[in-house]
Amino acid sequence: MQKTPDQIKTKITPVIIPRSAHSISRRLISRNALKVLYRLHEAGYSAYLVGGCVRDLLLGYEPKDFDVATDARPEEVRKLFKNCRLIGKRFRLAHIIFGAEIIEVATFRTHHENAEERDGKTLQGMIIRDNVYGSIEDDALRRDFRMNALYYNIADFSVVDYLGGMQDIQSNELCMIGDPEKRFQEDPVRLLRAVRFAAKLNVTISPETESCLIRLNYLVKNVSNGRLFQEILKVFQGGVALKTIILLQKYQIFTHLFPQTDSFINHETTQKLIHIALAHTDQRIAEQKTISPAFLLTVILWHPICHEANHLQKTAGFPEHVSFERAIALIVKQQMQQLALPRVMQVSISEIVMLQHRLTHRRRAVVFRLLDRPRFRAAYDLLLLRAEAGEPVQELANWWTQFYDSSNEEREILLQAVNQIRLSPPKKRRRRSKKDSQAL
Ligand code: ATP
Ligand code: MG
Repeated sequence: MQKTPDQIKTKITPVIIPRSAHSISRRLISRNALKVLYRLHEAGYSAYLVGGCVRDLLLGYEPKDFDVATDARPEEVRKLFKNCRLIGKRFRLAHIIFGAEIIEVATFRTHHENAEERDGKTLQGMIIRDNVYGSIEDDALRRDFRMNALYYNIADFSVVDYLGGMQDIQSNELCMIGDPEKRFQEDPVRLLRAVRFAAKLNVTISPETESCLIRLNYLVKNVSNGRLFQEILKVFQGGVALKTIILLQKYQIFTHLFPQTDSFINHETTQKLIHIALAHTDQRIAEQKTISPAFLLTVILWHPICHEANHLQKTAGFPEHVSFERAIALIVKQQMQQLALPRVMQVSISEIVMLQHRLTHRRRAVVFRLLDRPRFRAAYDLLLLRAEAGEPVQELANWWTQFYDSSNEEREILLQAVNQIRLSPPKKRRRRSKKDSQAL
């Protein structure tokens, strides 16, 4: 049985893995991170790379950023770098800015149980403050997984392992530091992090950590909607969104993130729609293209919105577009309990859904106006996905694809063709009176 952070109060002797026995070469480390490490070291402070970057390098992945841990206090770090900005109210961090690259430098900090300040937790054991400086051992113990608590020491290029992270790297296993039950309780975001890492790093979750994860999945409900939204963005942007969502479903965490979608998830078209969209997203990330979280959220909420709109149409007799407007407002509002969607994202979701309805009106005046709408492309992409997932919109999707790729003359022919089919025999239109048009 592993010791919990509060059981380990005495000094731990780390395992030091010398440069000759590990795979981290300085060629793989960002030059800016090396500059920061060397300057701290030359000024007499200890300086280590830590966390995700060390783990990723050892597992053979390219780190997405480089974090530094040191015994220098933030004010001392600032004195060493003129390109330094101190950030954070809860815990002061130094950001060393090199154009687009930011190297984050954090002073070693401790787990609460080890600190004089003990009131930083809620009754459920969740950490609400996390701002006390400590030793490097303390710093290792407060981290989440053992493979996230490895330190690359710039003084001798060794890897310093206090908790057995290197063993986990070798066995491809994700183990929580300390008692998983307690650690999930004090910060339930770790449930999502465990699943995200399992997907991204191709590692298995250790049996002890996994059984707690399954038992405590409901704790995700205690995480603020702001933090959950940030975590979901990481899932979408991580390059393995499909695999992560499948695992979130397997561990029944998905239901706490998207409860409205979860009730449809066993429907083949819902499952297919979401999975195809996430596979496309992963493909775009692999090609280093941008992705749209608002689009993915629209895909995830599409079936709950349609269901609610149909219900409103049947029960309240609203016209289709009014039902959709109301359904979007309701479903997005409910989703906000789990995820704090920024206003701009709410507007995007609403527009992409409303455009689905407009895309069915293939009249000349409407079509050209639609093409100019900023979210036309996203709406068209959703239409294609719906067709691919088996909704009966294949003919419409094909028409728009053809229209989109055509010259102006070809577009006129396509419009005439579709309007002849739809408008014959032509309906007599009532001329709008002057009074009517002023009212509009
Ligand atoms: P990613 O590749 O997603 O950035 P990461 O491990 O670097 O993975 P970060 O969120 O950047 O994740 O955090 C950096 C480090 O801080 C982690 O490796 C871990 O040691 C520690 N950490 C982050 N979040 C938590 C948490 N909720 N509980 C404990 N330690 C954490
Ligand atoms: Mg990171």
